[in-house]
Amino acid sequence: SGSTHPDDAIRSTDDDAAASRLSAVSLGYLDDPFVSLLYRPQRIGRDSSAAHKPPLINVGTHHRTAALDAVVDSFLRASASSPQSAQIVSLGAGSDTRFWRLAARNDVRLGKYVEVDFPHLTSVKAQRIAKSKVLVAALGQGEPVGTGAIVPPAKPYKVGHGGASLTSERYALLPIDLRTPGALDQIGALLDPDAPTLVISECVFCYMEPEASRDVLAWFGSRFENVASVVYEMCGLNDAFGAVMKRNLAARNLSLPGAVPFPTPQSQAERFLDPRLGEGVFTKSGAKRLWEIRSDVVSDAERARISKLEFLDEIEELRLVLSHYVVAWGSKGPLLDGVGL
Ligand code: SAM
Repeated sequence: SGSTHPDDAIRSTDDDAAASRLSAVSLGYLDDPFVSLLYRPQRIGRDSSAAHKPPLINVGTHHRTAALDAVVDSFLRASASSPQSAQIVSLGAGSDTRFWRLAARNDVRLGKYVEVDFPHLTSVKAQRIAKSKVLVAALGQGEPVGTGAIVPPAKPYKVGHGGASLTSERYALLPIDLRTPGALDQIGALLDPDAPTLVISECVFCYMEPEASRDVLAWFGSRFENVASVVYEMCGLNDAFGAVMKRNLAARNLSLPGAVPFPTPQSQAERFLDPRLGEGVFTKSGAKRLWEIRSDVVSDAERARISKLEFLDEIEELRLVLSHYVVAWGSKGPLLDGVGL
C-alpha cells in the first residue's frame, strides 16, 4: 500500500549512514569487511561510482568512526580491570557493523553486545545475519542440545518476534521503539547489572524529543554502577550553516526535534549532568567537535594517508561541516571515570 508512517523518514536515515560507510570503505577510508554483508545499496546501476559520496562526507565518516572507536576503546581499557566482561548497548544501531569489528579483534574481552532499532530495520538485519556464515560465526556458542544423541551442531542464535529479533550468547538484536515506556526493560533483562556498560547513541537521539532521550539516559545511568555513554549528533544548527543543514533535513521530512536543545558541544556534554536525569546518574562528561577530533584523535599518519585518497580542495568548507558535528560522552562509577576523548 502507499500508506506512510510519521516515522518512515527516521527509519530511512540508516540508509544514509550505511551508504556513507560503504562509500568510505570502498574508497579506502575505512577498513570494514562487514559493511557489505549488512547493507545492500538500493540501486547503483552500472556506474559503481554512483555509490560514492563526496570527499567531504567520506572524511566526515572516517572521523566519526575514528571518534566512536576511540571512545569504545577507552571504555574497554577502563573495563579491563573489572571481574565482569564489558557490555555494550547500541541504540538505533541500524546496519552498524561495530559488534563484528570488535568480535574480530583478539585484544577485546566483550560480554553481551545488544543492538536495538525499529522492527522494520531489525527484521532486515536479522535476516542478513542469519544468511551470512561470517556474521553468524561471531555470535558465540550454541546451547548444547541434549546428551548422547548424535545431533547437528546447534544454531548459535534464536530468531523471535516474528523474525524481528535475534539473540545469541554474545549478541542480541531487539525490535524496540526507544520512546515506548518500559521498552528498555527488555534490554536490561539481557544485561549484567554489575558489569561495566557502554551505551552508544550514534545519530539517534536527534530524532527523538529531548524528554525521550533524557529518559533513556536516566534509565541506563541509574541501572548500572559503572556506566558510560557516547552520543554523536549534529550541533550548531542555529547559525547560518546550520540553517542550510536544517533545510536539507526538512526536505526529507526530518525536523530533528532534539537538535535545537543541544546547540553546542558544551550543551551536549551537559545533557549528561542534567539534574532532571536524577541525582548522580552521570558524574563526568565532555564533548568535542568532529573538527577537533580530526587533530586530537585521528593520528597525523592516518590523516596523511586519507588525504591521498581523494582530492579535497576546500579545507575551509571541511572545517565548517566538521564543526557542526559533535561527539559527547558521560560516565559514572570509579571504573569508568576517565572514559572519553
Ligand atoms: N547508529 C547507526 C549508525 O550510526 O550507523 C544508525 C544511525 S541512523 C541515522 C538512525 C537510526 O536510529 C535508524 O536506524 C533509526 O531507525 C533509529 N531510530 C530512530 N529513532 C528510534 C527510536 N525511537 N527507537 C529505535 N530506533 C530509532
